Amino acid sequence: MSDLQTNLAKAQAYLARFQQDGVLNHIAGKAMPALDGTTFESISPVDLKPLARVAHGKAGDIDLAAKAAKEAFPAWAAMSGKARRATLHKIADAIVARAEEIAFVECMDTGQTLRFMEKAALRGAENFRFFADKAPEARDGKSLQGPGQVNMTTRHPIGPVGVITPWNTPFMLSTWKIAPALAAGCTVVHKPAEFSPLTARLLVEIAEEAGLPPGVWNLVNGLGEDAGKSLTEHPDIKAIGFVGESRTGSMIMKQGADTLKRVHFELGGKNPVVVFADADLDRAADAAAFMIYSLNGERCTSSSRLLVEESIYERFTAMVADRASRIKVGHPLDPESVVGPLIHPVHEKKVLEYIDIAQGEGATLAAGGAKYEGPGGGCYVSPTLFTNVRNDMRIAQEEVFGPVLSAIPFRDEADALAIANDVQYGLAGYLWTSDVTRAFRFSDGLQAGMVWVNSENSRHLPAPFGGVKSSGIGRDGGDWSFDFYMETKNIAFAT
Ligand code: NAD
Repeated sequence: MSDLQTNLAKAQAYLARFQQDGVLNHIAGKAMPALDGTTFESISPVDLKPLARVAHGKAGDIDLAAKAAKEAFPAWAAMSGKARRATLHKIADAIVARAEEIAFVECMDTGQTLRFMEKAALRGAENFRFFADKAPEARDGKSLQGPGQVNMTTRHPIGPVGVITPWNTPFMLSTWKIAPALAAGCTVVHKPAEFSPLTARLLVEIAEEAGLPPGVWNLVNGLGEDAGKSLTEHPDIKAIGFVGESRTGSMIMKQGADTLKRVHFELGGKNPVVVFADADLDRAADAAAFMIYSLNGERCTSSSRLLVEESIYERFTAMVADRASRIKVGHPLDPESVVGPLIHPVHEKKVLEYIDIAQGEGATLAAGGAKYEGPGGGCYVSPTLFTNVRNDMRIAQEEVFGPVLSAIPFRDEADALAIANDVQYGLAGYLWTSDVTRAFRFSDGLQAGMVWVNSENSRHLPAPFGGVKSSGIGRDGGDWSFDFYMETKNIAFAT
């Protein structure tokens, strides 16, 4: 049997339980259907066949889960940091033990390819380990001497929190949000995305089997407009950690206003990769191709705008077009595949529409540009490159969230910076140059929460992750996401 056939047989075995039992909610330690018994269907982007019926939670289910999280909060918050650390490490161990199952289920649920999902499952375990080791610091504060007083600050978990995640790399992103919340002493209600709900179910199950007390982590599946909205409005939920589209972030801010929710938003991006003539062009071309076509281009930090110095524009875009046309598109479980099917026919339609829009706007198609007839007849789109793009075109301004790159020429450094900053987003930027002074100057001027110089996106877990402008509020990673889940108290002693 080929690797693909072996992998398909394994995936079938892992998916059988979902086909039989569906994807249930998980509240106060119990797997349960939606209170009103309704479900919605989850399909695989590989062949558009049903994967499972999913519990369609609504306001009542969210209320039950929020009450469970509230009830579990005092004991979890009071547990010693050392004990919380031990539990979170056990969760990480259990993720590693089931990493293959997680990766295979994620591939079939999202269309992401195995070569990336194997790593994403393990990165989820690393997130738990990293925040496990922070748990003993959760109550640490500062001592601040003032005239006639000594101030002592302490930190306290904020309470039960809501975590709302998107459909792209859902397993890894869920661990990214939930691990710091648990380490800080918060309890959680998680609402995963409706397009890819399967691995969130595995994750909560893994956590409780590893010893997490019932009610500390609750899962409610449902749609954004009912379950998601109810979670953001619930009075017992003190904060919302959200990853998703910028316009959904705006809605959540409005919905959470009455209950004064603390919010942390990781939102959309239209990230530039800026290539100067003095760069290592081979490395830059590899990285530019990797950062838009890996993970199907369905990543918030994808480099969807390629800004190239005029003198090397023709040569460099030809290098990227060559790489794009050689990328293997195929079944997500084929170990050779780099690009798999996009998440859902609705999203595939959106991406193909942007390809039409770009051509209508006068951009030149230099690679791809069409649906790819892949195995299973799913939502495959060829890695696509547009050249002769102007930054005022919609293809250069709007988040496509697919394997579509737009190449824009620039005259000089000032022109490059003006183009790079001329978008509503400000998540990440990538800069390729051998001039160190320029690298510092350009990075300083770039309106972005993160800049990588002569590198693709490579995450160091303690470093801050997040965006400016419409790309987000707050930062993930290290102390930044840990602090979000805590309140700081100041106690002043007279001396
Ligand atoms: P989305 O905003 O449509 O949905 C995200 C989640 O929000 C889903 O669980 C959805 O059900 C829920 N939701 C929708 N409406 C809601 C409402 N009114 N109230 C509460 N919850 C609601 O995003 P998506 O299409 O699932 O994900 C893709 C987006 O996520 C892209 O814009 C991408 O850039 C962004 N993203 C950002 C980061 C980052 O770190 N900045 C990471 C990954 C993805």
